[in-house]
Amino acid sequence: MQPHLVLNDGQSLPRLGFGLWQVPQDETARVVREGLAAGYRLIDGAAIYGNEAGLGDGLRRTDVPRDRIFVTTKIWNDRQGYDSTKRAAEESLARIGVEHLDCLLIHWPCPDQDRYVETWRALVSLRSEGRVKSIGVSNFMAPHLHRIIDETGVVPVLNQIELHPRLVQAELRALHARLGIVTQSWTPLGQGRSFDAPAVQAAARRSGKSPAQVILRWHLQLGCSVIPRSTRAQGLAENLDLFDFALTPDEMDAITALDADERTGPDPLRFG
Ligand code: NDP
Repeated sequence: MQPHLVLNDGQSLPRLGFGLWQVPQDETARVVREGLAAGYRLIDGAAIYGNEAGLGDGLRRTDVPRDRIFVTTKIWNDRQGYDSTKRAAEESLARIGVEHLDCLLIHWPCPDQDRYVETWRALVSLRSEGRVKSIGVSNFMAPHLHRIIDETGVVPVLNQIELHPRLVQAELRALHARLGIVTQSWTPLGQGRSFDAPAVQAAARRSGKSPAQVILRWHLQLGCSVIPRSTRAQGLAENLDLFDFALTPDEMDAITALDADERTGPDPLRFG
């Protein structure tokens, strides 16, 4: 399996990264440095995580060249709108201390605010100015995707959505495939709720891997990019060690059948 995906704008995305949600600011530089040393090349940050400065410190303390690292951050809900988003992006660039972002996402559509189209236009403009290489969205549902594409003609490179064995998102994944959008899974381990499921346990026993590795491999074989979080060096290394085994089609189907349409996070139609 190729460890990279080609985005619809021609950029290359490492399939596997690590996330920085709930990583304390004073631990973030260490986690970033350890993650890069372990072999990760995709880092998923967000302004609301409050640790962009730590992310930047970690980037400056690694030997890995900047152009080998794919850095994502996100525009928080209270910065939606054209001018406000452009300022928010500049603030993120300054906090991280980089010349450009590899990817910038709209964190939530916030349909009640009804500003995600102008927010998307701001991302398009940031891309043409070279401040951001790729632009995408997060937590967008079908109507939000159709609307930004219809109104701007620009298709997001990826949609980062809640996805794990208890929320398999089959319809949205199929829509992404039709539109050429990469599905990126957040909370991919689903807070451990499926670690004990017989389908996961059986695949773990057969492959000699941990339940977390089985679930992350399931994401990769679905075709998704995936961004687990671990603050432990051992967890970071374990979550990266996914390329020397494969799930069988039956194992894939058995894990997909755990779907319960169960979110751990908010409903994107209502949040923000
Ligand atoms: P994950 O599904 O990655 O789970 C993280 C939890 O699992 C932590 O408690 C971690 O503990 C534990 N864990 C990690 N690896 C292992 C392992 N190998 N074995 C056992 N336990 C393990 O959840 P997150 O919610 O953090 O999601 C990942 C990332 O997705 C976030 O960091 C963020 O970047 C992104 N995200 C995006 C959202 C959005 O709206 N766009 C919303 C939420 C998340 P420990 O640290 O002790 O290893």
